[in-house]
Amino acid sequence: MLMLLTAVALATTQQATSTESPFRPLELPPPTPERSASGTPGPRYWQQRADYVIRATLDTAANVLSGTQRIYYINRSDDVLPFVWLQIDQNLFAPGSVAGALSQPPLRFAGGVVFDFSGKGFVGGMTISRFTAGGRRVTPTILGTMMRVELPRALRPDSGVTFELDWRFPIPPYGAGRMGRIGSRFYELGMWYPRMAVYDDVNGWNTLPFLGAGEWYLEYGDFDVSLTVPAGFVVAATGMNANAEATRTRQQRARLARALRSATAVPLITREEAQANATRAVPGTKTWRFIASGIRDFAWAAGPGLRWDASAWDGILVQTFYHPEATSWEPANGMLRHALIHFSEKLGRYPWPQITSVEGLVEGMEYPMIIFCPALEKREDQYWILAHELGHQWFPMQVGSDERRYPWMDEGFNTFTNYDAAESFFKGTPYADTVRRDLLSAYTAAARPGAEQPMITQPTEVRELYWNAYQKPALMLTILRDAVIGREEFDRAFRVYVQRWRSKHPQPADFFRTMENATGRDLDWFWRNWVLTTARLDQAVDSVTTTSGRDTTFIHLSNRAQMVLPVTLELRYDDNTTEMRQLPVEMWLLGSRFTYRVPTAKRLTGVAIDPRHAYPDVERRNNSWGRSR
Ligand SMILES: [Zn+2]
Repeated sequence: MLMLLTAVALATTQQATSTESPFRPLELPPPTPERSASGTPGPRYWQQRADYVIRATLDTAANVLSGTQRIYYINRSDDVLPFVWLQIDQNLFAPGSVAGALSQPPLRFAGGVVFDFSGKGFVGGMTISRFTAGGRRVTPTILGTMMRVELPRALRPDSGVTFELDWRFPIPPYGAGRMGRIGSRFYELGMWYPRMAVYDDVNGWNTLPFLGAGEWYLEYGDFDVSLTVPAGFVVAATGMNANAEATRTRQQRARLARALRSATAVPLITREEAQANATRAVPGTKTWRFIASGIRDFAWAAGPGLRWDASAWDGILVQTFYHPEATSWEPANGMLRHALIHFSEKLGRYPWPQITSVEGLVEGMEYPMIIFCPALEKREDQYWILAHELGHQWFPMQVGSDERRYPWMDEGFNTFTNYDAAESFFKGTPYADTVRRDLLSAYTAAARPGAEQPMITQPTEVRELYWNAYQKPALMLTILRDAVIGREEFDRAFRVYVQRWRSKHPQPADFFRTMENATGRDLDWFWRNWVLTTARLDQAVDSVTTTSGRDTTFIHLSNRAQMVLPVTLELRYDDNTTEMRQLPVEMWLLGSRFTYRVPTAKRLTGVAIDPRHAYPDVERRNNSWGRSR
């Protein structure tokens, strides 16, 4: 009887109905044999495989890259594939491309970084001069940056097909911020060869075109790449150099052996040597061969006048290539090594034998085992960009999420880990103590009510991509770790996610489920607030009352906007002492008002919510009562 009365009372006073409750279950795609309800890859998880053998020649007189390529593609799905799709990203610059036709102003990021997807007006694009499938000549259908190939014989489950193709494209000076060249003296080559589109259990063929904003979604495989360049050029690339005898001097090889045992940078090509190499004419060409295993992409850089430093950590070679005038890169090798250790310890050891960073015109771009970063004047900025591009070796190079749809799962997760790395590298400085506050100022500047878009929005439709895909997810994970789950449990669960989905293709639901299962928390409310909607937070102190005997004080709190979060309360007493109280998010289970009882004989003189300003509370004027300081 008593129970029934309580139930009636609850039903009439509770404001949120079950369909409006912030704690209602999230509607996720149902689990499948490929993706389990716990967030792990399921017992029938599968993904396709693509191995590449590429021979490419760099023509520096014409600034044209041409190649002959073999792809061995394995169908591990249960489906028969009558056709396949490939991505030809150079067609971002083809005549009549979507990005070229629309010619939109560039995307602006923090620190003046600009991505111009029109290629600053460059017109080029990929020419495919030959395509064979299983030895039979086929004519591909090219639709913008996507290419469909009808197979002479449909590809059955658990079988493979070999594609062979010849291609060429003029190298843009400015490749939409992700590749390019400086005249005919220096080249950074990404998005340069036709790559298999992903065929998965969620979308089938992933054929969203490359418009500039959303990056890639790629299959894993092995690469064997031979690059023919002018004989005087040095090549830095994904993978390991398989013909060092032919491409490097005896002195460089001896220095490299020394670098492999060194915790500090050993110059393999000194400043003086680089300056001399830059002007020396060397006739002929040289072919560099690189081999890499279990990766999803390949990039490289080449030029005659590069300095080359190397060190090692735990058997992993850490390499930095830069121009003699880029003096801010002299400490870059140590920065890269620090970040490598940091991420390895936090997220799992870096899995490949080397990591390379190349200084040049690209303002920050990641590829497996190689990153392109600019020279930046401020030490903090230089570390940040190196750590950011390096962090991408975990997201998305290891955890192979769909960047075309969900940049927050690579840019965002990575940015979150970058704050930890920067706080560690600059530990003890005011910068380390304050750098993460950027995220809350960004909230005020970028998350404008009515204009903000949910994090889940596809990047091509996002107006504030830096906020939406980088900063907001970093703020989200900071709050999840520090205010909701706790550091140790969060770190453990985040690592579980990385381990489960390494070299695989996670979807958002796989991440949500993994974090909930690994921490034992229901976080549906959290993902809804942060990822699926633009819920805003407004926690308030409504009033403070006491019992007549003044032995109990009641603090009446309310949650005035859609987002729910735990509450941090600072209590101040008439003897001028203060106390902190952490109220868990369950306080809001019964509705948006909560009365907190403080059994104390002391007189309360002030109450403050979120006194350290850790939350993006949109209305701070209602956060305190009485004398808070
Ligand atoms: Zn990034």
